[in-house]
Amino acid sequence: MPELRSLIVVLGDQLDLEASAFDGFDADLDAVWMAEVDEESTHVWSSKPRIVMFLAAMRHFALALRAAGRTLHYTRLGDPENRGSLGAQLHADILRLRPGRLVMTAPGDWRVLQAIKGVAGASNLPLDIREDRHFFTGIREFAAHAKGRKSLRMEYFYREQRKRHHVLMQGDGGKGVEPVGGQWNFDAENREAFGAAGPGAVPPRVSFEPDAVTREVIALVDTRFAQHPGRLESFAWPVTRAQALRSMRAFIADRLPLFGRYQDAMWPGDPWLHHSHLSAALNLKLLNPREVVAAAEAANRTGHAPLASVEGFIRQILGWREYVRGIYWTQMPGYAERNALDAQQDLPAWYWTGATDMACLRDALAQTLTHGYANHIQRLMVTGLYALMLGVQPKQVHAWYLAVYVDAVEWVELPNTLGMSQYADGGVMGSKPYIATGKYIQRMSPHCKSCRYDPAQRTGENACPFTTLYWDFLMRHEAALAGNPRMSLQVKNVARLSEEQKQAIQARAVSIRRGEVGVAVEVERDG
Ligand code: FAD
Ligand code: SF4
Repeated sequence: MPELRSLIVVLGDQLDLEASAFDGFDADLDAVWMAEVDEESTHVWSSKPRIVMFLAAMRHFALALRAAGRTLHYTRLGDPENRGSLGAQLHADILRLRPGRLVMTAPGDWRVLQAIKGVAGASNLPLDIREDRHFFTGIREFAAHAKGRKSLRMEYFYREQRKRHHVLMQGDGGKGVEPVGGQWNFDAENREAFGAAGPGAVPPRVSFEPDAVTREVIALVDTRFAQHPGRLESFAWPVTRAQALRSMRAFIADRLPLFGRYQDAMWPGDPWLHHSHLSAALNLKLLNPREVVAAAEAANRTGHAPLASVEGFIRQILGWREYVRGIYWTQMPGYAERNALDAQQDLPAWYWTGATDMACLRDALAQTLTHGYANHIQRLMVTGLYALMLGVQPKQVHAWYLAVYVDAVEWVELPNTLGMSQYADGGVMGSKPYIATGKYIQRMSPHCKSCRYDPAQRTGENACPFTTLYWDFLMRHEAALAGNPRMSLQVKNVARLSEEQKQAIQARAVSIRRGEVGVAVEVERDG
């Protein structure tokens, strides 16, 4: 007879007492299994803030499990019997605990799913994998949506989601249902820059002073992962459900009203602006997207936040977040290998230190390393855009994004990086590569004013590397992009360049790739 009926496997991004894995849990028969293992922090060179985020949240969740009376077998980093990887640890604990079966909520990552399946198979144990209720849409529903479509587009998926889950919909008084406000999309009202006056008094971010549990984790990470990138002095992320709920309520009360309007804006030295900073709490399952979407919708109903902001915010969660998960699970495992533009350049070493003299990149990298956070436009149109136009190998870009952000989990990071940002999937995620000159960054931020480069110049000593690389990118991929109707206008402009101009652009791009441009000696620290 097995000593245990079920061993409930809980991963570091499954921290919810109500998760499907606990359905039917019987404290007399079942026990929970969790493990901290080095492999999860080293398979990519994880930043210190990211490692602390996961470990601190896991240790707090362990306390919540025990307070709820659930027997827990928890292995810590540094325990003498720690086997170093999820698979090896689980295998050793199965031999010790002799459960009758394994139960878990579907893991977010392909790699982890394979590891757990492998252990269950090798141990000859049934593995009961349950639907993850932290998403509106299951993988099978997404696959049904995708089936038979020539191309996938987020907008169609999002509209279906709104209808199916009745979010921001009105009617049916006989005419059917329609979107609240009569339109699906308020892009025209969103996406402003701050202008010369700057963001003004943005409400302070809700931050959480590390308690004894988190402080212990910080000390552990500072020594065990001393060589890893990033800093921990200002770690203040929510690591419990109660803290995550406080963050959510503060966002809805203070920032949501201006979220849409300034969604794409950037301001030097201010990482937080009007964003929610809820991605890590959502991805670790400290929050359920349903409660976040419901809270935002209610803020519009009561007149607290305008529809354009609320729709813009809900689109990110009900639309993009669900869409990228569907892409990930319907495209893996081959997706991670894709490199449609045959990009082979190495990622500049200064991505890990921030030591660049490009003001926009320096700011985005400094806050990334300090807080493990950058907003979407910094990820897409600063760090991502530069890597794309430089021609960095998508796998290296992926490893960087998966390492540095506190919210980084592969199912959401990979499609955003490889697909949306690097166009390495050749158009599965988006219909065209997002490319732009430095003038885009100039429009959305004041960075260029304090930069040694000039976004209007594409060649010469002061040419903005983004601008040079934009033209170089168009020239390198001219033939492939000419057939894309959404790129044809941009590609046509290449024909207006003289041979001499083309050569000067190419020569400057070569210098940039060799690291002769863009590298700074000093690393600036962000507050
Ligand atoms: P807000 O701007 O306040 O948006 C609200 C929420 O919407 C976010 O918390 C997030 O849950 C969701 N969301 C917004 N945009 C996206 C998107 N494109 N895909 C999925 N969800 C979205 N997001 C992650 O959660 N983890 C990642 O590892 C990650 N890697 C990214 C890599 C690249 C190259 C790019 C371009 C984007 C990436 N994103 C990732 C998406 C997005 O940038 C972050 O979710 C967002 O910046 C997190 O900050 P926030 O919570 O303040 O978001
Ligand atoms: Fe960035 Fe170019 Fe502007 Fe400098 S000039 S801040 S490198 S976009």
